Amino acid sequence: MTDLPRRTVSLPVENAPEGKSKWYKAGLQFKCTQCGNCCSGGPGFVWLTDADMERIAAFLGLSVSAFTGQYVRLIGDQLSLTEKPDYDCIFLQRADGKAMCGIYPVRPMQCRTWPFWDMNLKNEDAWDRAGGRCPGMRDKTGPVYPFEHIEKCRKHPESP
Ligand code: SF4
Ligand code: SF4
Repeated sequence: MTDLPRRTVSLPVENAPEGKSKWYKAGLQFKCTQCGNCCSGGPGFVWLTDADMERIAAFLGLSVSAFTGQYVRLIGDQLSLTEKPDYDCIFLQRADGKAMCGIYPVRPMQCRTWPFWDMNLKNEDAWDRAGGRCPGMRDKTGPVYPFEHIEKCRKHPESP
């Protein structure tokens, strides 16, 4: 089981203070190491929007109904990707010790906006805690994502 940095349920969190007074105003370094932690572990959810499903279905060459029949489950009144029996995301692939997303170019917005989620940006401690599961957040060789990009992800309507 994992605390699911990407495949998670949205949790109510305090909003970080507005404006460039935010602790990450100088940007944040991040480089995915392809460890796969965020796409595997225990049960989790990858919530889907209509736009996500249309994009992924087209990428797979399926109709939306064929895609949903094969890869989507209903949780309450929300739609999520299905999982493999070991709880890996249905689209997680592994090769040469690396985890890869089988639909990377069209992955859901929930996945695209990681790790710049409100819950991780509340303060440096929250960021550091999430980095305990996501080594890419502690990687010091990655690019620095600018404040504007971080905010765009954090405020995206499909961002948890
Ligand atoms: S480094 Fe982070 S974003 Fe990349 S696969 Fe691992 S947990 Fe996911
Ligand atoms: S869709 Fe791709 S990035 Fe998102 S959880 Fe599944 S394998 Fe990971």
